Amino acid sequence: MNGQLVAWENATTHVSAHALHYGTGIFEGIRSYETAHGPCIFRLDAHLNRFVESAAAYEMPLPYSQQTLSEAVCQVIKANLLQGNSYIRLLSWYGSHDMGITSRRWPVETAIIAWPWGILFGDDRSRYGIRVSICPWRKIHFSMLPTSAKACGQYLSSLLAAQYALKQGCDEALLLDASGNIAEGPAENIFLVKDGRLVTNDESSSILLGITRESVLSIAQNLGLSVEVRHLTPEDLFHADEAFFTGTAVEIVSIREVDGKLIGTPGCHPVTDQIHGVFNRITAGLDTAYRHWLKLVPAVEDSRAAVFPIEPAAVTAETAG
Ligand code: PMP
Repeated sequence: MNGQLVAWENATTHVSAHALHYGTGIFEGIRSYETAHGPCIFRLDAHLNRFVESAAAYEMPLPYSQQTLSEAVCQVIKANLLQGNSYIRLLSWYGSHDMGITSRRWPVETAIIAWPWGILFGDDRSRYGIRVSICPWRKIHFSMLPTSAKACGQYLSSLLAAQYALKQGCDEALLLDASGNIAEGPAENIFLVKDGRLVTNDESSSILLGITRESVLSIAQNLGLSVEVRHLTPEDLFHADEAFFTGTAVEIVSIREVDGKLIGTPGCHPVTDQIHGVFNRITAGLDTAYRHWLKLVPAVEDSRAAVFPIEPAAVTAETAG
């Protein structure tokens, strides 16, 4: 935190922090995977690029270079002795100075948090797909906030959507954009499969351009699948053969039903399975063609006690962004 390795209980900020009042922060959710060579961070450079772009969208001056942040992320993995699959949260926010909206004299604080984390949805839902409900709240339009930035305050929209889905007894929400086209999940992008063709939307549907989304687009192209990027309507979804969400937290997860209607044939999602299979091999370090997507954390063999003292379950209960 702010350049130091700090024990979990000491990683605190003041209640007058600007970000606490106005959501003025930017962040990244990143995964590290266990491989035969040691823990590898998936697409760290892409995450850091987006982090820098999110800061620029809000004119937040970041105090660290991408290179420094990259090294710091590795250090946090090492200090916590995270050999297995884990999740990394990188966050910069405006700290304490005054409560004004415009003074711009708040310090930029930065923290990197990491903890062990496996798959988000349990085995059943990973295999058979999740239940989704379309949220009555629309996704904020890109003319209202820079939706391609990953900024803290923007997640109030995700919170409303996720809360709504849970109340409907569903696993996850789907947000429409201001025109009624499909936007995305609270922390996921969406893909449809129709007649063997993969379809997804882009930033013109007010989505965050996900790194998993971009990875899936590359995988699909390399597999020779045809891909179309265009607006998606709810009707496209209801008539799709398959649908799946992508995101760092969910990775790739099939959508079984939306608002109680089955998508395609339950349990039959060959294209999703094919892409998911390649993705899992890549993140496990088994596909040499994609090695450049993995950053090896040098020697996690430090014998100091981990600075991560709390039960992982306490921080894994919620969907992470
Ligand atoms: N949309 C939103 C709103 C998100 O928060 C996320 C998670 N970062 C995604 C999409 C998926 O992005 P990524 O694949 O980079 O995690």
